[in-house]
Amino acid sequence: MDIEKIYKAANAYLEGHFLLSSGKHSRFYLQSAKVLEDPKVAAKLADELAKLINGANIKAGSVCAPALGGILAGYELARALELRSIFTERVDGKMALRRGFSIAKGEKFIICEDIITTGGSALESARIITELGGEVVAFAALANRGFCVRYGSNKSAKPTCKLPNDIPFFALEDFEFEVFEPSECPMCKNGSKAIKPGSRGN
Ligand code: ZN
Repeated sequence: MDIEKIYKAANAYLEGHFLLSSGKHSRFYLQSAKVLEDPKVAAKLADELAKLINGANIKAGSVCAPALGGILAGYELARALELRSIFTERVDGKMALRRGFSIAKGEKFIICEDIITTGGSALESARIITELGGEVVAFAALANRGFCVRYGSNKSAKPTCKLPNDIPFFALEDFEFEVFEPSECPMCKNGSKAIKPGSRGN
């Protein structure tokens, strides 16, 4: 499955001059909400991710996604694996489990995101699950930005990856984009201004 082609066809693989949440600038940005806009495409991607997880013989009872970005991917993955789907969300900046979702003691979870950059939100979700008595058996995402290492890859994780290295991480593709400090950004040097993705119709 050509994930890059699917992202490009959905206008989810953006080219321009972007200000990332890290404060750095990039020529490219993945807008996963666009690839998940078509439920048929979302189902196809989740089915493929489920195949990887089943292929590694991972057994879980539930999928948990950090809101907002992970919810659609997590829900579709749960459908594909025939598991329960829940999500955590931020309350005053802190990740929490709300809405009456409960966790059984020893219940096994897959934490699912749309994209894993450093895995910070996924890790926060995982901490809540374990604090409440669950067990995290895998992390999953449609796309990996190349800071963490996906299952089956022989690359090594960057120091900024926050995912634990003793729990497998499944993703469909690596997208490693060069990022720049604003002071060293070649697009800035050419006089263009970085925009926040999602802020101007992208
Ligand atoms: Zn720039």
